[in-house]
Amino acid sequence: MEAARVMVKLMADFDVERIRRDFPALAQKVRGHGLVYLDNAATTQKPKPVIDTLVEFYTTHNANIHRGVHALSERSTQAYEEARKKIQRFINAESHEEIVFVRGTTEGINLVAHSFGRPRIHKGDEIVVSAMEHHSNIVPWQILRDETGANLKVIPVSDEGELDLAAYERLLTERTRLVSVVYVSNSIGTVNPMSLIIQKAHARGIPVLVDGAQAVSHLMVDVQALDCDFFAFSGHKLFGPTGVGVLYAKKAHLAAMPPYQGGGDMISSVTFEKTRYNTLPYKFEAGTPHISGGIGLGSAVDYLERAGMEKIAAYESELLDYATEALGRVEDLRIIGTSRHKASIVSFVLGDIHAHDVGTILDRYGVAVRTGHHCTMPLMERFGVAATVRASFAFYNTRRDVDSLVEALNQVRKVFR
Ligand code: PLP
Repeated sequence: MEAARVMVKLMADFDVERIRRDFPALAQKVRGHGLVYLDNAATTQKPKPVIDTLVEFYTTHNANIHRGVHALSERSTQAYEEARKKIQRFINAESHEEIVFVRGTTEGINLVAHSFGRPRIHKGDEIVVSAMEHHSNIVPWQILRDETGANLKVIPVSDEGELDLAAYERLLTERTRLVSVVYVSNSIGTVNPMSLIIQKAHARGIPVLVDGAQAVSHLMVDVQALDCDFFAFSGHKLFGPTGVGVLYAKKAHLAAMPPYQGGGDMISSVTFEKTRYNTLPYKFEAGTPHISGGIGLGSAVDYLERAGMEKIAAYESELLDYATEALGRVEDLRIIGTSRHKASIVSFVLGDIHAHDVGTILDRYGVAVRTGHHCTMPLMERFGVAATVRASFAFYNTRRDVDSLVEALNQVRKVFR
């Protein structure tokens, strides 16, 4: 009862129409219709404060960071390092030294595979992933497997789209060196029981990497409460710029890991005989980084904190229920992934109409969805489909958007009747 009251209060405080006005891209017409943007799992739209931050950076502060003594370089450095601290607070990392700026989730995972995996994973060792991973949490481990002779073990997924936790426990052996699992499935929206997954692995001394690409925009993430060893996410899925993301790693791991790339900024001194590496996290940030991107991501985090992640999660949960019910009423529509715990991502097939055809017709009505395998080909195979249509909702989407999707889907059905 109390939980229901809290939910109602959170919803009442959430003014979606005011939020929508902060996102200029949402106001446009596409093919004569108001844009209905439901491709947020691929990338999110950007609020005005983030856009303004980028414009301001390039108009007034632009300079390279860390090495300059002039005013602009000092300002850029300060803004970049402040952004790192904002992100540290946002995911509740213990120290800013644990926040490594990378290009995105993909680079974060590759960094771990290279710098953590390579020195530790040998022939016969095992890496555990799940059947619902994005390709970026499969292929780096396959590359490592092929280089080292290690084995890749896969946690199976149920018909509902949930991980088989009993099978997971059976997969953990004395040869398991790492578990690397997605928090929220980008294809079917399942929210995996990450704390439990981590506890089970840690009970055997096995470190865990969390692919948090879809988690950060929908859930309140606390890396210390999760106790994960690594957590990777992308700025562009969090209402920030493309080309920047974050790898969180426990300090002890980063301290023990060799650098990922060599170059400027990741060193404290270089001679031809010996190079001394920089302190954390700079040891892992070779070369000029995406300075404006990092600062823009800091601004996105500010925006989300003002909106309130708790309110966002409550609003999206209600929107997901509404969308699931509305889509369930569309004839011949089958939702793929019906887990009890889902974020606001709904994948479906419409009779035997090809997903790309559905997506192309929806676009004629200004409805933007993603169609295809969503970089999760093994998961598509698990469900026996080549492709799905995916509607992924952000906190600026409304029930009106869901209604527009449903109306457009009914038009698709008419075309194929
Ligand atoms: N992991 C998941 C769950 C994703 O959804 C994505 C992107 O869709 C990625 C990883 C890769 O993210 P990026 O392409 O930003 O590196």
